[in-house]
Amino acid sequence: MPRISDRVQTFTDSVIRRMTRISDEYGAINLSQGFPDFDPPKEILDRLAQVAYEGPHQYSVTFGAQNLREAIAQKQGRAIGRRIDPDHEIVITCGGTEAMMCTMMTICNPGDQVMVFSPFYENYGADAILSGAEPIFIPLVPPEYHFDIHLVEQGFQAGAKAIIVCNPSNPCGKVFTREELMAIGTLAVKYDAYVVTDEVYEHLVYAPYTHTYMSGLPGMFDHTITCNSLSKTFSITGWRLGYVIGPSPVIEAAKKVHDFLTVGAAAPLQEAILAGLMLGDEYYKELQETYTRKRDFFLKGLDRIGLKHNIPQGTYFVLVDIQEFLDLPQFQGYSDLEFCEWMIRNVGLAAVPGSSFFREPVNRYIRLHFARSEEVLGEALLCLERMTEIVS
Ligand code: GLN
Repeated sequence: MPRISDRVQTFTDSVIRRMTRISDEYGAINLSQGFPDFDPPKEILDRLAQVAYEGPHQYSVTFGAQNLREAIAQKQGRAIGRRIDPDHEIVITCGGTEAMMCTMMTICNPGDQVMVFSPFYENYGADAILSGAEPIFIPLVPPEYHFDIHLVEQGFQAGAKAIIVCNPSNPCGKVFTREELMAIGTLAVKYDAYVVTDEVYEHLVYAPYTHTYMSGLPGMFDHTITCNSLSKTFSITGWRLGYVIGPSPVIEAAKKVHDFLTVGAAAPLQEAILAGLMLGDEYYKELQETYTRKRDFFLKGLDRIGLKHNIPQGTYFVLVDIQEFLDLPQFQGYSDLEFCEWMIRNVGLAAVPGSSFFREPVNRYIRLHFARSEEVLGEALLCLERMTEIVS
């Protein structure tokens, strides 16, 4: 057979998505790939039913329906305290995934260096390879997931084109402080580089932490490319609606990349989600309260069982430390991936092996998410309790 590209030999399929497939195969409780098990708000569902008959069913404007761009520009403009031009500073994409890929392809030449914090959301690795960029990893050091700003400066000094900041951060739940973001932003301006932010968990932040928008910091709009999504905010991960916001020269170029990659996001879904964007601030408050309850319930359960874990400041992920299991004779030589496969088969619970997020050879964490009903989370906790008993 003719050879396929070398490029695709350099990365694997997504371990996150693979764990969901294995979980489904064994009928396990799936706390691996993060997505909610509850419905989007009723307003959105009602509107979706109407749109089925009213349309649109044909292509929208390639870079996003006018009314959706206006609604998102208004919401995010309010959040960052600056008007966002719906015609030149935003492009609607097929999910946050395309937003990031489109951004990378827009700003990177082959060989350009892009800094990525480790642990990182695994897509960034493939995004870098597919856009020809070389990722430079900056450690976020557990347990606080602090980073050394000097390493960031060194990266920029060495010519890095951009730094990717996932805030709130998947998988470690870190919420970057305003000071941290200012420090990164100041360096990006000094070295004339971009900050690419992934802010899909902007509304899943737990008190006392608050979300700071990089693009809203003084002087940062022209240096920030914000990748975002409606998936988590409106519990519609299957709709694949995301967007990129940034300075108009970048967005005008991103529109071209997006057009040739996908032509556009699903037109009827762009229309239906407007009902969500019309919900008031109360909606976001309730969403946050719902996830705060889930987080507290799940973390309390982990504590009761005696499993060590980080305390997520944002997102719906928690990293559980499995070192004490890996130290047992029956798990000698196990990788965290093998442990996760063992868990699915023997405990009935799916997690993501931590190693798929770390650049460093870290083999002691699994990532669980808590975007599930308390009933399901309770069952998951029972599985984990059984797991501790199996090995004790
Ligand atoms: N962000 C989610 C996760 O990390 C899922 C994203 C995806 O699979 N597209 O699990």
